[in-house]
Amino acid sequence: MRVAIAGAGLAGLSCAKYLADAGHIPIVLERRNVLGGKVAAWKDEDGDWYETGLHIFFGAYPNMLELFQELGIEDRLQWKEHAMIFNQPEKPGTYSRFNFPDLPAPLNGIVAILGNNDMLSWPEKIRFGLGLIPAIINGQKYVEQMDQYSFSQWLKLQKVPPRVEKQVFIAMSKALNFINPDEISATVVLTALNRFLQEKNGSKMAFLDGSPTERLCQPLVDYINQLGGEVRLNAPVKEFLLNSDGTLQGFRIRELNQTADEVITADAYVCAMPVDPLKVMLPPQWRELDFFKQLDGLEGVPVINLHLWFDRKLTDIDHLLFSRSPLLSVYADMSNTCREYANPHRSMLELVLAPAKDWIAKPEQEIIDATMAELEKLFPNHFGGDKPAQLLKYHVVKTPRSVYKATPRRQQHRPSQQTPIPNFYLSGDYTMQRYLASMEGAVLSGKLTAQAINRSQMLGISAQQLSGNRQLQMDNQMLTPDSQAPVLKAES
Ligand SMILES: Cc1cc2nc3c(=O)[nH]c(=O)nc-3n(C[C@H](O)[C@H](O)[C@H](O)COP(=O)(O)OP(=O)(O)OC[C@H]3O[C@@H](n4cnc5c(N)ncnc54)[C@H](O)[C@@H]3O)c2cc1C
Repeated sequence: MRVAIAGAGLAGLSCAKYLADAGHIPIVLERRNVLGGKVAAWKDEDGDWYETGLHIFFGAYPNMLELFQELGIEDRLQWKEHAMIFNQPEKPGTYSRFNFPDLPAPLNGIVAILGNNDMLSWPEKIRFGLGLIPAIINGQKYVEQMDQYSFSQWLKLQKVPPRVEKQVFIAMSKALNFINPDEISATVVLTALNRFLQEKNGSKMAFLDGSPTERLCQPLVDYINQLGGEVRLNAPVKEFLLNSDGTLQGFRIRELNQTADEVITADAYVCAMPVDPLKVMLPPQWRELDFFKQLDGLEGVPVINLHLWFDRKLTDIDHLLFSRSPLLSVYADMSNTCREYANPHRSMLELVLAPAKDWIAKPEQEIIDATMAELEKLFPNHFGGDKPAQLLKYHVVKTPRSVYKATPRRQQHRPSQQTPIPNFYLSGDYTMQRYLASMEGAVLSGKLTAQAINRSQMLGISAQQLSGNRQLQMDNQMLTPDSQAPVLKAES
């Protein structure tokens, strides 16, 4: 089957890869001149990379790790020691660590938490541990039910002291979804905690050894090409063209250097674009369907990724750091953590600014000035005194709508990969899969979409059979809870 896919982010590329594995011919159409979507990166005039986001791979990413193995590139993941490191705002320039020993889960996590006495007192640890018991006993079902609460509300319900939120979970919420605990759904934080505590290496972190575009997306494209598929850049999908029965007839695209539009036709179509542009592009006929109406509840959250090059080394820490700054989220000195960005003499800090709602429209210089003020607190030794570290250059990458904002009650708005339109599928981290809005979620969603297309083909409902022969039933009944079940069961 020929399958047209709109979007060359991780979801679109993973979908194409798994379709090609199953003997189909994927053709991926990407709007921009760069692969990767939210993992896209660019080289500046000095040959230095800058990225859409600081990206961390976790041990709890089975589908992503499998993908690296299938592509034969697992040596590109640079695993760090099993620890979580937090700045201590009350003691500028110092760090507090959760060290995970080489013990089975959840023992290693318990030892890591009990062994940290800088951030939480014993009564706080005990109260938090007791609060987690319902999640441990009732598992994912309970975690899903908690989507009605923000994480702050959940902590209060569990009678966890407010200091636990301040000390640990502001940093964690910002890292997970670029928002604070009073906004983030409890399901998101509890899902991450579950993975981290239940899998021995769940919270172990790796950095890619170079830019995601070159070191992860390009191998995917090479693989897809080898199996007869195609990935086209500068090929924005402008419109979904419909048959008279409401099924998809083609993607109308306009390539950058072409004057006329082109229509790409296929046996099946996948939208692997983010949810925000998808909502804008939905044909009016489809908008009436409850399945597509539910997307109105999803919206991308703003985030800013910063890159600052300094004239000296600010730290030798080879790991992700939780800044615990009101302005910033996580950061890393990429000159230590990433082989291709390595520099023994100068630091390149990559920092995530979140929540970014009040900053996204501000001029770059204002953002950099505020960031430098924060860095003075994080690295007092290098910015005080008569020879402060000099900022050599910077890049600011703003993403006004990034991953969907995971506030309470969003889970019910996340669609399955299969849609009521028989030859049209969705892929993307926002679609329903259990890894939330992440690279793992994007890769898994692509795999699930490929599986859904295979299933449809096995059932013999190819687009050709449908279009013209059968009137599309647009009564939403096609999306019963049962029709979602196999999709969810397919997750590994
Ligand atoms: C700052 C930041 C930090 C992050 N950190 C982490 C992390 O540490 N760990 C982690 O797991 N995840 C992280 N993420 C999340 C992760 O990057 C995303 O979840 C994932 O990359 C989303 O992939 P996707 O394919 O679903 O969507 P996207 O990557 O958004 O891909 C969608 C693609 O569709 C294309 N497109 C849009 N419109 C059209 C059109 N009309 N025609 C054709 N193509 C179109 C886009 O250009 C894009 O390439 C981070 C994200 C950001 C922004």
